[in-house]
Amino acid sequence: MRCQPRYDGPVYIWLKNKQSCLLCQEDVEDTAPICMACETELPWLGEQCLTCALPLPAPGMTCGQCLTHPPAFEQVAVPWLYGFPVDALITRFKHNAKWPYGRLLGELLAQYLQNRFDEHMPRPDALVPVPMATRRLRQRGFNQAAMLANWLSEILQIGCDEKLVRRVQDTSAQQDLKAEARKKNLRNAFALAPDATVTGLHFALVDDVLTTGATAHALARLLLNAGAARVDVYCLARTPKPGDTTSKTL
Ligand SMILES: [Zn+2]
Ligand SMILES: [Zn+2]
Repeated sequence: MRCQPRYDGPVYIWLKNKQSCLLCQEDVEDTAPICMACETELPWLGEQCLTCALPLPAPGMTCGQCLTHPPAFEQVAVPWLYGFPVDALITRFKHNAKWPYGRLLGELLAQYLQNRFDEHMPRPDALVPVPMATRRLRQRGFNQAAMLANWLSEILQIGCDEKLVRRVQDTSAQQDLKAEARKKNLRNAFALAPDATVTGLHFALVDDVLTTGATAHALARLLLNAGAARVDVYCLARTPKPGDTTSKTL
């Protein structure tokens, strides 16, 4: 008696298509990576600065920092606040090399960006991952920004140029510095590839978390000075200003 399902039979197809939510393990109806309940509970970024996506209490505003010192990038497209569980997923992806969590975040970010494109946010000509210091790359073994950019590239069908910019100075101790010192430190930290073609092109920088925006600003300045038409920033999560109590921290 045959007790194995035939490989082309309905049981096998059902088994193959049965999916569970990557966060809570509940069954999901279709091929979505997480269930609707988990998706709703993610720390979606609400009202935000039109330029740098800093959480703000009211819609349609630009933050004080962007008004007094406009950044070189045009706008930041980011779905979440750096809060639970997105912060934990990013940490696992970055430090424990848990690819499925990275891939999940990448897929959700791609969906978010596609919605923004449908709402007339201009599609870039190319995605450019924020390069990582060589020493840190050697320690970690991979650049999470490059992995994200490649997943976005594959899903959104936008080219990804990992070699366009590189770090020429090690700024890996960046998080220990104050904002002003960070900027100074970053001014000469990046260089364009010698054969880079940027004139008239629209780029989107890709990174996991946007904190002060100083790195994105330095890279955008470099690309614009070389003739790029526009630079946007795509990332997974935005940190609120330190000590900011108006933002949701769900
Ligand atoms: Zn779930
Ligand atoms: Zn701003």
